[in-house]
Amino acid sequence: MTDTTSRTSLSRREFLKAAGIVGVTATMSTPTLRLLKPQTQRTEAQGEEKWVPTICMMCPAACQLLVRVRDGKIEKIEGNPKGPINLGKICARGQSALFRTYNPDRLKKPLIRNDPGQRGSFTGFTEASWDQALDAVASHLKKLISEGRIKEVAMIGGWPLCLYLEPLMKAFAETIGTPNAIGIPGGACFFPKAFGWSSAIGVGTHAQILTDYENIKYLVVIRRNFFGSISVVHGTRAGQKIGNYKLVVVDPRFSETAAKADLWLPIRPGTDLAFLLALINVVISEGLYDADFLRKFTNAPMLVAEDGTPLTAGTDAAGKIKYLVWDLAQNKAVKHEEAILPALEGEFTVGDKKAKPVFQILKEKVADYTPEWAEKITGIPAATIRQVGIEFGKTRPAAVDTGWHDPKYKNSVMTWRAAAILNALVGGLIKDGIIITGVGSTATPTPDVSEESVMRIWGTKQGVAMASKGFTFQGFLDAIEKGDPYKISTVFLFTTNLAMTGPDSTRWRNAFKKLEKVIAVDIYPNDTVLYADIVLPEHSFLERDDPLYGMAYAPVLGFHTRVAAVQPLYDTRHVIDIVVGIVKRLGEDYYNKFWVNFAKALGAADPQAMGAKLKDAYEKEGVKGIRKVQASARNLDVAKLESEGLIVVKDAVTLRKEMIQKTLNGQLLTPSGRIEIFSFALNNIKAKKGYQPYWDPIVAWAEPEVYGKADGKTTFYVVYGRVPTMTHTSTADEPFLSVLTPEFKRMAWINRSVAESLGIKKGDKIKLISVETGASVEAVAFPTDLVREDTIWVSSDFGHKSEALHFTKFGVPYHTLTGVKADPVAGGIMSQEVVVRVEKA
Ligand code: SF4
Repeated sequence: MTDTTSRTSLSRREFLKAAGIVGVTATMSTPTLRLLKPQTQRTEAQGEEKWVPTICMMCPAACQLLVRVRDGKIEKIEGNPKGPINLGKICARGQSALFRTYNPDRLKKPLIRNDPGQRGSFTGFTEASWDQALDAVASHLKKLISEGRIKEVAMIGGWPLCLYLEPLMKAFAETIGTPNAIGIPGGACFFPKAFGWSSAIGVGTHAQILTDYENIKYLVVIRRNFFGSISVVHGTRAGQKIGNYKLVVVDPRFSETAAKADLWLPIRPGTDLAFLLALINVVISEGLYDADFLRKFTNAPMLVAEDGTPLTAGTDAAGKIKYLVWDLAQNKAVKHEEAILPALEGEFTVGDKKAKPVFQILKEKVADYTPEWAEKITGIPAATIRQVGIEFGKTRPAAVDTGWHDPKYKNSVMTWRAAAILNALVGGLIKDGIIITGVGSTATPTPDVSEESVMRIWGTKQGVAMASKGFTFQGFLDAIEKGDPYKISTVFLFTTNLAMTGPDSTRWRNAFKKLEKVIAVDIYPNDTVLYADIVLPEHSFLERDDPLYGMAYAPVLGFHTRVAAVQPLYDTRHVIDIVVGIVKRLGEDYYNKFWVNFAKALGAADPQAMGAKLKDAYEKEGVKGIRKVQASARNLDVAKLESEGLIVVKDAVTLRKEMIQKTLNGQLLTPSGRIEIFSFALNNIKAKKGYQPYWDPIVAWAEPEVYGKADGKTTFYVVYGRVPTMTHTSTADEPFLSVLTPEFKRMAWINRSVAESLGIKKGDKIKLISVETGASVEAVAFPTDLVREDTIWVSSDFGHKSEALHFTKFGVPYHTLTGVKADPVAGGIMSQEVVVRVEKA
């Protein structure tokens, strides 16, 4: 048993001692607050001060930071004023990030446990040397390789890996020979939203598209709370210009963003699509669309035959689909780029076919989606919808915000597709409104995963149209529990916490108990790490130098990195060192193969040559060597990169001009290279699976699964959201953050009149019971007028059970309520397709 396991509580002094800050703060009456005081509070005589650049890793927003270090200790964290991502601003989580290093709960040495019966608790571990731990991992892998069972290994990463080092894990998996690696369960995070956008503009993750908050004049926000949730990046930009644009927030709950809005529309959960369709109806029927934009930038003029087939003319050298439009100037069908005045409306005869432009079909499709129709579905008055539609259509630039996280409903893909189409109608894409950022501008299409992967086989079996992209990590459950489609016996967990955040988290916990071996790489002994047999502790992000990363979230093209602010406090390693340590133990062949695979995963044109360089540089200088090779390959000034933490290669104006030109040239990542009002990707799905509104090639109303199932009296929709001080399970165990509004984190917002009718008062313990599965969670009632009568809102704090975490005594373990599901297009987990009954606990 480790010393950590035996501790049940932590005195203030113990905490400060473990944090290495006794003496600096112990005489202060409020030591934690004292630490946050600005640097002007410091005296001159306290040693040399330095500021080290890095990237925040408290959430995926990747804010650029400067870390003040004195005498080898971190004193303060600020936003990097040169950073184009967060413009020098950071949030409370970023401010408290020094405890990512000084938190006494951290994993401090490798741990090994031999009795799988003790999984789920922090008992039975013995501390090990790195050699012992890595030898144990390598020997297990060698056994699986020699027995022909290496496919039984699954690797699952959380967001830290996804955002930064997914190529590392992919290279590791490829090297040992398993097809089962998923950098982040995208089906639980972004993929349905991203695919909705991408069906129109070719990209759509939150790292690839950004609302142009600096210039926007009218902004509609759905399914998102950028002033109270994850992203300082977007919140800062939007906040600085508040008052310059009209803000309409569509949310069943009065969120922080709704509090700053000009108009709050408390919509029935899951029906945002109907609202957007009605706005499209208004913009078109009132003639408020930007016909010039539609003609030049989109495939709205593309001719589609009566049977729904687009009229195409082969592909160009880059593989982009060429299609026909009706040129009103030449009075004939020609390729889009040859047209002088493409028709948007009408019906034309081409050869023996009758065909209409896509815009004409869109207009006919949305004719029935009137504000009155949408009022019945959304609960928003028709007059309000019409007013928003008219304002949206008349104001330039106007946009529906990019969104962030949305795997929530069966109709999530179609919802974001409708948002993209609405934006396109008013010219609010690429040129204005929603812009493609640096990372997006250099993106390449996501490759398919191996046909042998469990994720793909399971997704296909569930009928998920995009199963080939491999985001359906839910499939690991059947593979672990039933060996379907084949057995997964070994799981590598890279900073992920599926025991709390996986859909039907109880099932994940039970599944982990059935495995032959569980290996976890993490910083904290979170609930999932408790299921591991071998625990490999990582450096905190403030202790590590990192490779070079492309900047996401900023409207520029640039690169940034992490520079170690302090030496590692404990016997931890960089995740790259951990992976290299394992492959090296598998033998020379594996080691060499790993470097080539790593180079390939990083996008090298010549993986052999780049792999050799990376290997050589790593052997000489470790991770810093990798960074140097990457920087040199891009002709970046390494000294500048290491001193400033970032280099901007193209500014916002240049990048925007390039993206506009790319779109006009037909070079977007969509199949046709233009903004697709008619999606070729969705049309392919239709061709394979028949028609369903969830993959209508243009746009259509598609119901969420919970539609009409909550009456607001005895049954309720559940929606969740973040709170600014805690957005991921990894931010739960932070001493500063845990004392900020803890009660907020276990609350269930319930409408005041509903609470009264159920006899529930503020502070009562209540039970939310899933109507579908019978699973239940406890929360503390917060009756309020600021949530719809048919809706319960909970913070997605997830709840924590790990006895090895000492600052996480709150949270609603929401994912206990959700079953294992997959939306039919992207395989998203449909995390809000839940209806509950409410009882006093
Ligand atoms: S939003 Fe806050 S926690 Fe997230 S990266 Fe930025 S500073 Fe860090």
